[in-house]
Amino acid sequence: MGMTSQRTRDRLVERLRERGIQNEAVLEVMRSMPRHIFVEEALSSRAYEDTALPIGQGQTISQPYIVARMTEALLCDGERPRKVLEVGTGSGYQTAILARLVEHVYSVERIDALMQQARGRFQELEIRNIRLKHSDGNWGWSEYGPYDGILVTAAPQQVPKPLYDQLAEGGRLVIPVGKQGEQQLLVVTRTADGYNSRTLDLVSFVPLRGGLG
Ligand code: SAM
Repeated sequence: MGMTSQRTRDRLVERLRERGIQNEAVLEVMRSMPRHIFVEEALSSRAYEDTALPIGQGQTISQPYIVARMTEALLCDGERPRKVLEVGTGSGYQTAILARLVEHVYSVERIDALMQQARGRFQELEIRNIRLKHSDGNWGWSEYGPYDGILVTAAPQQVPKPLYDQLAEGGRLVIPVGKQGEQQLLVVTRTADGYNSRTLDLVSFVPLRGGLG
């Protein structure tokens, strides 16, 4: 119980603040979100460590700092995105954080078992503004696009073209790109005449695979 208590969560948020996360809305949502629900019970005592943890199927729940950094980059200072596409639902932790901050979240996952587990967690937490699809996120999810924000939680070698296409003008795409060991976290903004891209960080993500798992 002690390891999942509010004090343990508060300590995690203080650590995120020390590491440079400034967006108060993001910090508040991270403080209130029970991350231990998104990992197996055997790992729940480690859920508020600032580290990635295994979630089965060779996949991981992202490190809290990275979740906070990507969410902050997606929201930035301007208007809140209304519709966000996430590629790589995984445990559903990042999805749930987004769902508390924007109106609608659309999330695609290629491994059905992970998607079903995540769905159960959203029901348990009574989060109702998330739509899930078992699909290859290399194709985005055109049905509900264009999106004000797109966040990708696995790394392709290059940004898949459908993700550029499904980004609304003024929208932001936050995506890790590159080979294992040399990935960059990019923030791509769509403007009236094209796309601006900047590197936010060096990161380490599982690869964005093709096809269904
Ligand atoms: N944000 C998630 C979390 O906190 O649990 C991170 C999950 S993990 C780092 C990345 C996820 O992307 C995995 O669940 C993996 O199956 C999924 N994935 C990889 N390639 C994919 C693809 N082409 N389409 C959809 N999901 C993909």
